[in-house]
Amino acid sequence: MLLRHTPEEITERTALTINPAKTCQPIGAMYAALGIHGCLPHSHGSQGCCAYHRSTLTRHYKEPISAASSSFTEGASVFGGQANLLQAINNIFTVYKPDVIAVHTTCLSETIGDDLKQIRKKAITEGKIPEGKYVIGASTPSYVGSHVTGFSTMVKTMTEFAESTGKKNGKVNIIPGWVEPADMAEIKRMAKLIGVDSIVFPDTSGVLDAPLTGEYKMFPDGGTTVEELKSSGDSVGTLALGEWCSAAAARELDKTHKVPCKVLDMPFGLKATDRFVDALRTIAGVSVSDELAYERGQLVDLISDMHQYFYHKKVAIAGDPDQLIAMTEFLVSIDMLPVHIITGTPGKKFEERIREITADMPCEVNVKAKGDLFLLHQWMKNDPVDLLICNSYGKYMARDEDVPLVRWGFPILDRQCHQYFPTVGYKGGLRLLEKILDRLLDRKERDDPEPKFELVL
Ligand code: SF4
Repeated sequence: MLLRHTPEEITERTALTINPAKTCQPIGAMYAALGIHGCLPHSHGSQGCCAYHRSTLTRHYKEPISAASSSFTEGASVFGGQANLLQAINNIFTVYKPDVIAVHTTCLSETIGDDLKQIRKKAITEGKIPEGKYVIGASTPSYVGSHVTGFSTMVKTMTEFAESTGKKNGKVNIIPGWVEPADMAEIKRMAKLIGVDSIVFPDTSGVLDAPLTGEYKMFPDGGTTVEELKSSGDSVGTLALGEWCSAAAARELDKTHKVPCKVLDMPFGLKATDRFVDALRTIAGVSVSDELAYERGQLVDLISDMHQYFYHKKVAIAGDPDQLIAMTEFLVSIDMLPVHIITGTPGKKFEERIREITADMPCEVNVKAKGDLFLLHQWMKNDPVDLLICNSYGKYMARDEDVPLVRWGFPILDRQCHQYFPTVGYKGGLRLLEKILDRLLDRKERDDPEPKFELVL
């Protein structure tokens, strides 16, 4: 009973977070930067921040995450980190030879007031950035927003590469948001099946799910290339998957390069995937391919086969806004009852969207943005659920309340394989259903008396 001190009684808290449902901005910026081919993320702050961000990503993706640090000491903390960053840029290009250094700030460098744009200018003036190499910088103070904000800011920063030649390239930009490498690969596969030539950024497929070949590559083959990022300014349109993760970058491309954008939900579940496919189909001016229609039919078939086990099962979910919106819609569409929904990321719009999606549910729904897992646990104590969907930190609540847990979201520190199997799209929907039903039936079998312990469903 690790969380045995969590009381049932809920009291108003305004200035205290207990068991946060978010982590810090630079982790998101670092993950996004890894989706650029040949990019070395750089943490402009102290070594401790960088070590924490790298280790969290390493523990989730089970891959060594390379990132450099400005390694602030007392001097930099007082006088600013410009000298450290200039030295770092010089060292990194000399030793590691990346195509891009993607710098993000930390609480410390933000509090000092370091200006990344000005420091980059100085690096260019002093000849520290070799020809054909790039330094980009995102401001990611962790005392506002969350890891989602940091991800979004770094993705928006990537649009600085975009160029307009005046001639359209016939491609569609897809900004997938913070999803697993396998999800990014699946989004590319779906676009290809529809016949859409896409530029997906960021793209961590082939970076954080690369094969073990026996040969170490500092920069794996995957990732969006700088050439692709430059070309994104000539695309015919942008599809941003997720208001919180992707919309800012898409709107920036629209503003600066007149690339029209559409903001969609992340394609988790049947309806959101339908909307994504429809948007792709409309842009390409084609019909949906037979192969995709076949995959959709499989998902519909599985939903109808499994429906009896899902019907009116109560679910608590925690995670990031874009994922939760699509997941809530999916759960409602299969007649489950997502009754407690929490994200650590701020945003009143999130609560409004969830209220819309759950409006017709036959029960009360608790929803909170900028909430924490302590509150979610209290809700679960007051109104028990049949299933919890959460990242690894959900395991403590799951154990205390004796509720089955589906691990989904970020971070998943105590399981493997999540980076290899997509949960987006129709194929991903199959996997989500399998995970949910497995947990529910495992629990049923654990609790069933022997006469009900059936072999056949
Ligand atoms: S100091 Fe700020 S950036 Fe560094 S680990 Fe803590 S919250 Fe994150």
